[in-house]
Amino acid sequence: MTFLHIGFDDTDSPSGGCTTYLCARMVESLSLLNVDFTDYPMLIRLNPNAPFRTRGNAALCLRIKFDDDLENRVKQIVLNEIKNGADLAFKNTNPGIAFYEGETLPDLIKKFSKKVIQDIVVVNEALRLAKNVGAEICTFKNERGVIGALAAIGALLENDHTYELITYRKPENYGKPRKLDIDSVINMNSITSPRTFCNLDDGRMLITPHGPDPILYGVRGDSAEIVFAAKNMIKSLEPIERWVIFRTNQGTDMHLRFLSSISRVRPYLSVILNGEVSNKPKTVSGGHVIIPIKDHTGKIDCAAYEPTGGFREVIKNLIPGDLIRVYGGVRPASSLHPITINLEKIEILKIAPLVLKSNPKCPKCGKRMKSAGKNKGFKCKKCGLKLKEIEKSSLEIPRNITKKMYLPPPRAHRHLTRPIERINKVTKKPETVFTPWHHP
Ligand SMILES: [Zn+2]
Repeated sequence: MTFLHIGFDDTDSPSGGCTTYLCARMVESLSLLNVDFTDYPMLIRLNPNAPFRTRGNAALCLRIKFDDDLENRVKQIVLNEIKNGADLAFKNTNPGIAFYEGETLPDLIKKFSKKVIQDIVVVNEALRLAKNVGAEICTFKNERGVIGALAAIGALLENDHTYELITYRKPENYGKPRKLDIDSVINMNSITSPRTFCNLDDGRMLITPHGPDPILYGVRGDSAEIVFAAKNMIKSLEPIERWVIFRTNQGTDMHLRFLSSISRVRPYLSVILNGEVSNKPKTVSGGHVIIPIKDHTGKIDCAAYEPTGGFREVIKNLIPGDLIRVYGGVRPASSLHPITINLEKIEILKIAPLVLKSNPKCPKCGKRMKSAGKNKGFKCKKCGLKLKEIEKSSLEIPRNITKKMYLPPPRAHRHLTRPIERINKVTKKPETVFTPWHHP
């Protein structure tokens, strides 16, 4: 018996195509060969802040076992599907495939995977890893796809994972508006949420993409059973060509790495960082809100962009002294702005008192006093009382934020962002593959 992990990445382009669709087709071809799938197909989202990335920044992996004599045919199917399905004509499409044989995975490839999801990795590092662990690779053009291919293999998602059931359209409908019965989606959401998430945002459907790609819709959830149940509740008004359930790191925050201080921040990392608000938030052109934070090692700007909508109001309500935990990707400095953390969410850890200082009231007649000049105390215009030893009165203003996590609306989420439905929730042990999980 041969155990094989098949990773691939970077086959799509902005004009269409989709690595998950290619994977779905591969699943069908391999099923016809009678191979056993030892896990769900894996859809692994890589560091969303990496400078070179594909559109959805997704890499895929299939884990299968089969009789040894099938090996060549299995590999031939994989290569053919990639060659036929990848948009090789597009300049920035650089497919990569990796095969790793073995029932268990070496730690090296797991560590590599974590790094690709959180940080920046160059092609040479991936090529070196492939050599060290004995992975067979096949690359096209500039070879960058091999990074994601190996990362997908190494992502076992032992600590947390979610599922996405993706349905695909008939080719004749590509590019046309997607036809789903919105009421059935609202109904599905009301029955399955929070076990499914990011279905709707303010009445708008989030399960359907908008591009020319083959995806009709995708439902995300905590188990394969719940996304399968959700599919059966959604009425599609156009035919579904095929569907597959993927096991994925979406909605897990797996891209974020906790840094102990601001001095450790580097461009392109996805970070979690504690800091004290050091200045008032400021709104810049385009409607983006910038908030600087500091700790004992330095200071850094954080930004809530316009598409994060009402989330910006939370940021605008912060004042110097507030202690917050920020989550987001690090954008390098440019000629227009310093190095900045693009906020994906924040947690308010400590709320500073907001005190309004005003001139004291006259102890004799109650009228608000006026300053008598610098260091000369206050005088009352009504009764003429002058007092040198009187303090300004202070009034504590209630703050309209609370100590909790704040997220932008789901439409502004990254694929990897842990949504509000999954706060403090992890799905630990991968389930065994159940039927049905794909069709055809
Ligand atoms: Zn007075």
